[in-house]
Amino acid sequence: MAKKEFKAESKRLLDIMINSIYSQKEVFLRELISNASDAIDKMYYQALTDDSMTFHKDDYYIEVIPNKEERTLTVKDTGIGMTEEELETNLGVIAKSGSLAFRKENEIEDGHDIIGQFGVGFYAAFMVADKVTVKTRSLSNEQAYKWESTGADGYAIEKDDKEDIGTEIILNLKENTDDEDYDQFLEEHRLQTIIKKYSDFIRYPIKMTVTKS
Ligand code: ADP
Ligand code: MG
Repeated sequence: MAKKEFKAESKRLLDIMINSIYSQKEVFLRELISNASDAIDKMYYQALTDDSMTFHKDDYYIEVIPNKEERTLTVKDTGIGMTEEELETNLGVIAKSGSLAFRKENEIEDGHDIIGQFGVGFYAAFMVADKVTVKTRSLSNEQAYKWESTGADGYAIEKDDKEDIGTEIILNLKENTDDEDYDQFLEEHRLQTIIKKYSDFIRYPIKMTVTKS
C-alpha cells in the first residue's frame, strides 16, 4: 500500500487534538457514532427519495463491536458508505476550515468540544487507537475500499472485499500505560455507559455485539 502524507496543517491539528483538545478520551465514541448516524441519515434519505431502493426500517442501525482477544473496537454502520474519492477527501484532509482557523476568526478560548463541532471528529479515534482501519462500500459503487492509518505519518487506501454497503471503523486500541487504561473501551458495560451519556439522542438502534475471537 502506497503511503500518502497528511498536509502539514493536518499533522499539526492531529497532534494538538490527540494531545490536548479533548479532555476525555471517551468522546471518540460519540464522534464515531455521530458520523455513523449522519451516514445512515444520507442512506435513509436516498431510500425515501429513490423508488428503485427498497426501504426496511430494520436495515438502519449502528453496531459497536468490542473484541478483547484482538484488542479492537469496531463501529459499524449501514449508512451510505464512501467511494475511494470520498475516503480521500473526507479522511485525507483534516478539517480544511477546521478548528484552528475557526478559533482564530472567532477568538474562542479553549473550547472542549470545538473539534467535535467543527469537523475533525473522526480523528478523535487516534486518542485511543494506534491504528485505525476504515472499510467502506458506497451505495454508488460495487467496489469497497480500505483506508488505514497509524496517525500523523499518513494513510493508505486499497481495495477491500467488503460486500455490504456501509462503513466499519476498526480501532486497534493502544496499549495500557500507568496513566491510561484503554482496555476499558473493550468492556461492554463501560461502552454502554459512554453510549448512554453521549448518544442518547441518536435515532437509530445502537447494538452491541461482543466478539470472542
Ligand atoms: P464531520 O462529521 O464534522 O463532517 P468528521 O471528521 O467527523 O467531520 O468526518 C469527516 C467526514 O468523513 C464526514 O463528513 C463524512 O463525509 C466522512 N465520514 C466519516 N465517518 C463516516 C461514516 N461512518 N460513513 C460515511 N462517511 C463518513
Ligand atoms: Mg463527525
